[in-house]
Amino acid sequence: MKSSEIRQKFLQYFASHGHEVVPSSSLVPGNDPTLLFTNAGMVQFKDVFLGHEKRPYVRAASSQRCVRAGGKHNDLENVGYTARHHTFFEMLGNFSFGDYFKRNAIKFAWEFLTVILKVPEEKLWVTVYAEDDEAADIWLNEVGIASSRFTRIATADNFWQMGETGPCGPCSEIFYDHGREIAGGPPGTPEADGDRYVEIWNLVFMQYNRDSAGTLHPLPRPSVDTGMGLERISAVMQQVHSNYQIDLFNELIGAAARVTNAVDLSSNSLKVIADHIRACSFLIVDGVIPANEGRGYVLRRIIRRAIRHGYKLGQINPFFYLLVEDLAKVMGQAYPELVEARARVAAVLKQEEERFAETLENGMQVLEMALREEKRMLDGETLFRLYDTYGFPLDLTADIARERGIAIDEAGFEQAMERQRERARAAGKFTMQEGISYSGPSTTFHGYGSLQHEGQIL
Ligand code: ATP
Ligand code: MG
Ligand code: MG
Ligand code: MG
Repeated sequence: MKSSEIRQKFLQYFASHGHEVVPSSSLVPGNDPTLLFTNAGMVQFKDVFLGHEKRPYVRAASSQRCVRAGGKHNDLENVGYTARHHTFFEMLGNFSFGDYFKRNAIKFAWEFLTVILKVPEEKLWVTVYAEDDEAADIWLNEVGIASSRFTRIATADNFWQMGETGPCGPCSEIFYDHGREIAGGPPGTPEADGDRYVEIWNLVFMQYNRDSAGTLHPLPRPSVDTGMGLERISAVMQQVHSNYQIDLFNELIGAAARVTNAVDLSSNSLKVIADHIRACSFLIVDGVIPANEGRGYVLRRIIRRAIRHGYKLGQINPFFYLLVEDLAKVMGQAYPELVEARARVAAVLKQEEERFAETLENGMQVLEMALREEKRMLDGETLFRLYDTYGFPLDLTADIARERGIAIDEAGFEQAMERQRERARAAGKFTMQEGISYSGPSTTFHGYGSLQHEGQIL
């Protein structure tokens, strides 16, 4: 079953159960300046959950584009390392605004998975929050899940909260067992963080309001927020054990191999590039442009990371922007805005590639030399030099070091940056106090300028 069909079936199923189908909102949250990117389906409904906004419906469903690269949820470091994490993904969700609660939320999810998609029951595992007897009772006695595939979890993983205060409540998560040939243990065990038991759907029961003293007050009209990763459920339906082998990724990975002249289609770098072209393109579609701070700096980091992986494959000419056309072919039907913006997106990416190309090769030489010194940890001065002079975001250098099993001295990096700031400040003072124009080594002063812009790390 193709991903597009799963997306469609999901929305149809919930529409047939009285849900308003709501389009995906922008990756740049319109209602929340504290949030870096839209990272879940509920983001566009936040004010509805809080009771600040009324909608003409009490049930909704969506397929929401999400980015988790920076901020509270950051999966950038997972890309290229797990089979199930992306920086950009689509979250299928159904929502109840004070309408149905646990019973229906659980029954809808179970029916959709086992009846509509016909996922074999014995492949599914379920968790609830340890104290949530109500949800446990529905799963065990009404749905009839086997107690051997059911776990109560006491950690924050199964208790959701919007913030320090406000709506919160227990979660129930549904996992799919990809089989014994994949490494990883069942939920709730120390080996759970593998790709065998993959969380596919998270049901959040917003049941309480937490006040500033930390006390939980029952909400008069509890709500439901759920999220299922489209790529993860597609892997299940397409009987592959990695999200990177589903239809949405197959073509992109092939295209990434074409533009980098890579021969080994199983290369991790191709997965990273395929993941990153999705995130970068959709961020640009939604108005983000590469910059030295804020959202734009996250975009720049993702782009440069992709370029570095192309470089690793031996590609020294701009290649990343060429993938926009391929992405538009794969995802354009679901996202016409991508098709419309594709020339602009490609132009932005190309410019960033040309810009980084000026320093990438020299920076790589500096880094290679440092890595050859057989250190266990890359020192702060080198990290800072790469960052300041060669435009290597810290996470990019960390990604390269990690491939060689070498850690990075993040604290040392911060100190080196602080020292640079001090020098810049001193130089600035000198100019003002003496009333003469600064004529010291212009390179140092340059550093000040670039620091001001690049000084923001998220
Ligand atoms: P995980 O524990 O696997 O990191 P999560 O608990 O952080 O997932 P949720 O915040 O519960 O994820 O998001 C709801 C659903 O979105 C998940 O059950 C999963 O199917 C999907 N999802 C979450 N993060 C990613 C990601 N980085 N890439 C792809 N799908 C994701
Ligand atoms: Mg996560
Ligand atoms: Mg989880
Ligand atoms: Mg979860």
